[in-house]
Amino acid sequence: MAKYIFVTGGVTSSLGKGIIAASLAKLLQARGLKVTIQKFDPYINVDPGTLNPYEHGECFVTDDGAETDLDLGHYERFLNTPTSQASNVTTGRIYQTVINKEREGAYLGKTVQVIPHITDEIKRRMLLLGKSGKFDIIITELGGTVGDIESLPFVEAVRQLQWEMPEEDCMVVHLTLIPYLSAAKELKTKPTQHSVRLLSQEGVHPDVIVCRTEQPLNSDLKKKIALFCNVKPDAVIEAMDASSIYEVPLLMLQEGLDIIVLKKLQINGYAAPELTKWKAFLDKLKYPKTKVTIGLIGKYIELQDAYKSILESFVHAGAMNECKVKVIDVHSETITEDNVAEKLSKLDGLLVAPGFGNRGVEGKITAVKYARENNLPFFGICLGMQMAVIEYGRNVLGWADANSTEMVKDTAHPVIDLMDEQKDITAKGGTMRLGAYPCTIKEGTLAHTIYGTTEISERHRHRWEFNNKYITDFEKAGMVPSGKNPASGLVEIVELPKHPFFIGVQYHPELKSTVENPQPIFVHFVKAAKAFAEKRDAVKNPLLQSEMI
Ligand code: GLN
Repeated sequence: MAKYIFVTGGVTSSLGKGIIAASLAKLLQARGLKVTIQKFDPYINVDPGTLNPYEHGECFVTDDGAETDLDLGHYERFLNTPTSQASNVTTGRIYQTVINKEREGAYLGKTVQVIPHITDEIKRRMLLLGKSGKFDIIITELGGTVGDIESLPFVEAVRQLQWEMPEEDCMVVHLTLIPYLSAAKELKTKPTQHSVRLLSQEGVHPDVIVCRTEQPLNSDLKKKIALFCNVKPDAVIEAMDASSIYEVPLLMLQEGLDIIVLKKLQINGYAAPELTKWKAFLDKLKYPKTKVTIGLIGKYIELQDAYKSILESFVHAGAMNECKVKVIDVHSETITEDNVAEKLSKLDGLLVAPGFGNRGVEGKITAVKYARENNLPFFGICLGMQMAVIEYGRNVLGWADANSTEMVKDTAHPVIDLMDEQKDITAKGGTMRLGAYPCTIKEGTLAHTIYGTTEISERHRHRWEFNNKYITDFEKAGMVPSGKNPASGLVEIVELPKHPFFIGVQYHPELKSTVENPQPIFVHFVKAAKAFAEKRDAVKNPLLQSEMI
């Protein structure tokens, strides 16, 4: 029988519930338990796949093709285990199931209501992963903030589950904010008291209160929170701002969050936490020996969360290379032929980001050209790869109108075209080529060196593809399709052997990078950027050849 931990949030959003949930999961995993995390989101979209990145940050994709909340990325990066379709559920998904059942007549003439029908469906899904027999502990993060109208059915479902289950099988961790008022030089507990009261009014009492704070909480303050919120003082956990999200598990360990959870769930005989690899990663992260600057060319750069997995992949790959990776955001819409050199000349590597639609693509193409002509390490992801193909078509093959039919429907050289199976699709949600697909890598290529194998699997999220009609033209002109889907022949990787490091991938490698398994293309890209930086500095000042920047 699995045990259940629910993580709720109070006072405000953006407190980092996902990181706290992932950190707790990491600690329990480090003590030998099999743990997974799932996220229940109260919005009406059936999944976040149709949401603009400005609304909700990046859309994370699982192996089995679910378009999910970006918190699932944190869960995977921390736990090093994959999540799945079952791991992210929204209000929209719940209602869709209930309404479909109602249309099928499954409710036998009953009036279908929020309680019990919606709450029953929420509960069924909350217990689903626990029933698989694969996990000892299921952590469920509830999106939104306690008190929101739309999160009420979820809190009610937790209340019912707590009532139905033995006390030691279920618990609630409430994450809240203790603001510091600098004028009064004081930490304030009142918002936390209110949010716990709100939660209690909804019938759920937290077992642990995790307090986000910029200043340490002294024991008097912890006691005060404990007294007013009716928990034991050791169940008040301080969560100070950390310099890296990857520090949080260790901070939670110091605070004893895992121990209080294990006690409440009556799990005995657990091992000491095995965090050797995690700590080694943190050491490398904290004390880098070199530094590189990577340009991230995208159009959603105003919002850091839009490229979350890419940024985290650089953290993993940087640590692996004992190198600090500074990522500079360059807005693709601002890049022109005239300013490209000025904008990109200080970079050690260029990553052209994924994206949809026309806006900013010409800037991306101009940036690729600069990287190709100046031997600057280049890494294109999804739309970034497509832009590399278009740039090659235009500037090497000489087809000035080379384009993707996503941008210009009737271009004479559609080097990127809509996949056949996409041509009759009109609905937007969940209809892209999604999830893990195998890819066979050509021996002796850069991709082969990077992966060290010829058979890989990576995750996808796109509708367009390299147009195989042009494959021989590109090959003759020096662009190598080094990875293909074995069944369909779709080109998944392109590279330029004459360039020191030039690779474009149709898939999203950033979705599989974890602390313990940094994604190999990112690792090799950072390595290439290091080599580029060293060479450039050596040319600039021969005396500084060995000095680090
Ligand atoms: N818009 C492109 C496509 O659908 C690329 C998608 C992406 O970058 N994820 O093929």
